[in-house]
Amino acid sequence: MSLAIGLVGLGAIARAQHLPAIAATGGVHLAAIASRNASLPDCPSYPDLAAMLAAEPGLAAVSLCTPPQGRFDQAMQVLRAGRHLMLEKPPAATLTEAEILRDEAARRGLTIFATWHSREGRAVDAARRWLSVRKVRQVRIDWREDVRKWHPGQDWIWQPGGLGVFDPGINALSLLTTLMADPVILRAAGLDIPEGRQTPIAAQLALSAGAVAIDAEFDWREKGGETWQIGFETTNGTACLRDGGAVFEADGKPAIGGEDVEYRRLYEGFRDLVVAGRSAVDLAPLRLVADAFLCGRRRLVAPFDETGHG
Ligand code: NAP
Repeated sequence: MSLAIGLVGLGAIARAQHLPAIAATGGVHLAAIASRNASLPDCPSYPDLAAMLAAEPGLAAVSLCTPPQGRFDQAMQVLRAGRHLMLEKPPAATLTEAEILRDEAARRGLTIFATWHSREGRAVDAARRWLSVRKVRQVRIDWREDVRKWHPGQDWIWQPGGLGVFDPGINALSLLTTLMADPVILRAAGLDIPEGRQTPIAAQLALSAGAVAIDAEFDWREKGGETWQIGFETTNGTACLRDGGAVFEADGKPAIGGEDVEYRRLYEGFRDLVVAGRSAVDLAPLRLVADAFLCGRRRLVAPFDETGHG
């Protein structure tokens, strides 16, 4: 039987990825949406989550595509209504919220899926296979993009809980934590916070995994294209996972890539978790971000003006 899904928050990622991925995935279908501003033709549309849950008893699952702030209350509403839950990254604004959601789902026998879309990048498995037979010496992460291009008008990213440059940076951490053999810990962090804003526009992290030293640079002030890559230096060659996990190049050999399947894989994974009566909540990427906010050294930098003058 196909899993009836209700989608909440018709913003950038819901439109670009969730709607097409649901349509392209067998065993799931879009049954309703909840949006403060939008409606979809041929799909029951409600002004908010409560109205959608009340009117759609056949809705088996809800996928939340809203900003992290406020997502906890929505997620609890979904679980209390007895529906399975899929969460955009990050799973919540805080670790405590995420853990409460995980425990609440378990108590109710519901599936909760905290997604990390970058882990489904088409070259990630190739990177994992290549690394599995090598000893990593050093890792270098560069995650740089233009915030004006990728987050136009998104005020929430600059508010407390919005993560700032860690909103993309957490994708790099989701890859790092799934590719390293040892647990990753934060050694030091620098956070560049524009005057008048609450979240960083850039961050520099020193991390380690066992004996491996890892440097990471996240920056939202990049112009002319983006760099989302993780470089690996091993005792037996070097490699780079590029384009956010879409391309893998090792020892100068041709890149491994292919079709963009991230969100289709997420919905296949969600469907399979529900069928199996299981959940998947890995909080390691969010924990490292929380650690950076706990231990990072803050530096005030020039004010950021979205119109391009700052
Ligand atoms: P967005 O464009 O700002 O969309 C978020 C949507 O959530 C809004 O359009 C709005 O939809 C709803 N919403 C509910 N309460 C809101 C509030 N208080 N403030 C703003 N919006 C509110 O954000 P997004 O880029 O889609 O990101 C949503 C989540 O997906 C974030 O956690 C982000 O990290 C994650 N994500 C984004 C991307 C990306 O490339 N953009 C990629 C992967 C993951 P309605 O008007 O329909 O209510």
